[in-house]
Amino acid sequence: MVLNLIFLGPPGAGKGTVAQAVMDKYKLVQVSTGDLLRAEIASGSELGKKLAEVMNAGQLVSDDLVSEMLLKDLTKKASNPDFNGVIFDGFPRTQSQASMLENILLGINQKLNAVIYIESSKESVVKRLSSRWTCEKCKKVYNTVSLPPKSEGICDDDGGNLIQRDDDKPETISKRYDTFIEKTSPLIDYYKSKGILYKYDGNVPPVDSIKAAEEIIRRIVKE
Ligand SMILES: [Zn+2]
Repeated sequence: MVLNLIFLGPPGAGKGTVAQAVMDKYKLVQVSTGDLLRAEIASGSELGKKLAEVMNAGQLVSDDLVSEMLLKDLTKKASNPDFNGVIFDGFPRTQSQASMLENILLGINQKLNAVIYIESSKESVVKRLSSRWTCEKCKKVYNTVSLPPKSEGICDDDGGNLIQRDDDKPETISKRYDTFIEKTSPLIDYYKSKGILYKYDGNVPPVDSIKAAEEIIRRIVKE
């Protein structure tokens, strides 16, 4: 069975880790629109030239161009005899992109099997991400939960002060979380209405999060 999946979750929910584990287990390939854009431009194709023009002008790549690029890539991937399915990364972000993706998949006799939403509280995301501290001198990264320095606030190697980068500060993480919820809610509602939204509690260690995702996939495969 072919499995085409999307994982959704706020930054810090462990989406990357879970997606990677699922990809390995079910031999899926990742489709990242960011990577596709870069590859298409590097290839020097007609589409690549168009994309480069848009990006060099500092404009956003239109949904039509992204659609053209996705169709080209998915057609190629799906025609591989070893094709087991894809995990989409960074796309779709809006409801109109979601229905566009639906049409693309329909056109190549594919469908989206599931959108798996890793529900994580703001509290747990902030806790997880704000544990990163960086040495002022050598830039070594510590994690106060999983990789703490020998003495608090001090680098083991050179005695430098450990500081928090702006990205790792609780207020920045909290803001990013709010933005995610606001922007992604319509997409979540959309997939719920399509009957393919599955969610689970992501406020757990990575190994349990992976198990929960795999349990959902097992259910989908059986249906
Ligand atoms: Zn250091």
